[in-house]
Amino acid sequence: NTNEMVIEFDSRSCNEGFARVAVAAFCTQLNPTLEEVADLKTAVSEAITNSIIHAYDEGVHKIRMECKIVDHDLYVTVIDYGKGIEDVAKAMEPLFTTKPEMERSGMGFAFMEAFMDDLSVISKPGEGTQVHMMK
Ligand code: ATP
Ligand code: MG
Repeated sequence: NTNEMVIEFDSRSCNEGFARVAVAAFCTQLNPTLEEVADLKTAVSEAITNSIIHAYDEGVHKIRMECKIVDHDLYVTVIDYGKGIEDVAKAMEPLFTTKPEMERSGMGFAFMEAFMDDLSVISKPGEGTQVHMMK
């Protein structure tokens, strides 16, 4: 039993709310608890915020979100085609940020890891980043 949904939208901060609601609406067919939905929305908005502010720090570009339900699991991938991450392991350490001046706390990946059951990041400098999450 599988079901898929893909959306692509501009890297504008107003679309972060749109993507959160879209993923929440899509997952209702799994009858999630309120807490599960809240966790999912938090993780998705962290990934999308990262694409908006880190991947595309100049101009507006596309972000793609792929969602897939397989039996009782939800897979979400957030994809950007931006600047990429040089050292993924380091970027994923709690409190690591390359934008301390913007009052970033470096906790985005730590939240994604805490709120989802599985997280993996694939990135290539100059080509972009894919954040794969499962719950
Ligand atoms: P916070 O999420 O707490 O506001 P942050 O965004 O800096 O702060 P993380 O979300 O954990 O912290 O990301 C850590 C670092 O990884 C970022 O500072 C940035 O350098 C890099 N990074 C994360 N996502 C991307 C992305 N999509 N493209 C390029 N760099 C990224
Ligand atoms: Mg972040």
